[in-house]
Amino acid sequence: MLIRGAELRSGRTLDVRIAGDSVAAVADRLTVEPGETVLEANGAALLPGLHDHHLHLFALAGALESLHCGPPAVLNEIQLAQRLRERAATDASTRDEWIRGIGYHESVAGDIDRAWLDRVVPGRPARIQHRSGRLWIINSRGLALLGPGDEAPATGRLYDADPWLRARLGSRPPALQRASELLASYGVTGVTDAGARNSTGEYRYFADATACGALLQRVVVMGDASLDGVIDSGLARRGQTKIYLRESALPTTGELCATIERSHAAGRAVAVHCVTETEIVFAVAAIGMAGRVAGDRIEHASIAPPAVLALLAEHDLAVVTQPNFVRERGDAYLAEVPARDHPWLYRARGFLDAGIALAGGTDAPLGDPNPWLAMHCAVERHTAGGRALGEAEALSPEEALALFGGDPLAPGRAVASMGHGSIHSGSPADLCLLDRPWSAARRNLAAVEVVATLRGGHLIWQRA
Ligand SMILES: [Zn+2]
Repeated sequence: MLIRGAELRSGRTLDVRIAGDSVAAVADRLTVEPGETVLEANGAALLPGLHDHHLHLFALAGALESLHCGPPAVLNEIQLAQRLRERAATDASTRDEWIRGIGYHESVAGDIDRAWLDRVVPGRPARIQHRSGRLWIINSRGLALLGPGDEAPATGRLYDADPWLRARLGSRPPALQRASELLASYGVTGVTDAGARNSTGEYRYFADATACGALLQRVVVMGDASLDGVIDSGLARRGQTKIYLRESALPTTGELCATIERSHAAGRAVAVHCVTETEIVFAVAAIGMAGRVAGDRIEHASIAPPAVLALLAEHDLAVVTQPNFVRERGDAYLAEVPARDHPWLYRARGFLDAGIALAGGTDAPLGDPNPWLAMHCAVERHTAGGRALGEAEALSPEEALALFGGDPLAPGRAVASMGHGSIHSGSPADLCLLDRPWSAARRNLAAVEVVATLRGGHLIWQRA
């Protein structure tokens, strides 16, 4: 394939030839070879493909397959019934396929139950989750599929029944295709799945999905100790041991050190989920005692006052942040987090100035999966309500872009070198072609659209 007239990082407009899984030539003018596909860039920016350093593929796939059944998408009973009937009609070929709704709130249609659902969608198994996450409402066809109904209440309203449901539904993971195509449309060629409970089964599923083309991105799979013995296969790589800390139920220092030491001994770095100051200090202390290895990282580091920054820098730990939370959750943070901590929320500039390696992940589906929106937030630092949050933490567009690049096993080193990787002969053909030159893109990253995405030399997305 020949990409003609692409703007590269140097600002020069050049032709780029792809052969196999890498860039074969970059020059002012390359002659089209017989049978070669030509992609006209028309001066738009060609960048290395993006890597989302923290997301959850199964949950993202599940969320994309689910119907939103509450505000703001659905406000009343008529809208809810219409939405459910439309969904039932669209995939009519799959009568046993569940209709899965999420985000229900009683302001829509009160305490709906099995009988209500039976009237609206009698022919398909349906279940709707209350937005609290604690309640499922299931119709008769759904209950029949789940097995003998004696354990389920006649109303079809099941509280705290997730384990029961999981056991009945089996552990069939949702298909990844749609989520993967969506990510490809943003120029994402690699992801790190940050599931703390990922084990060899999930790893195998991801590896198979990349092999059969259902998952188009390279995937780094974080997870539990069972992944210690996993050998990288194809586009799937074994990732860090994910450690989920919660301030209200911290392990002992000895337990945490033992986990870190075990992981390091297996050649794996650790990724520790920390949102509070206490969690970060605890994690850093344990890593300090166990000994740090390259690639050890803190996920989120949501509140990082100066003393915490100094600790992270001293131990040379990377931080993987979610700039999109500034917009998506910023208004709630400003209302709920004590004012003295507002300057330390989801920092970025502060980390870089302290010499801390910083990378970005969207945490999709908890955050919007579009990394361009996340980059935009890193530059603008505005909440959805239009309020400024930590403006001193703003990054340049180039630094924001670099958050979504670099080596996923050593995240954040790309930002420090201010580069999102250059494209030259021999570089991997994991690329995304934008719809505009970088000079225009950097003025409003949220407006950027991706025209084509290549992973390993294969076109995995092309705008119609
Ligand atoms: Zn996460």
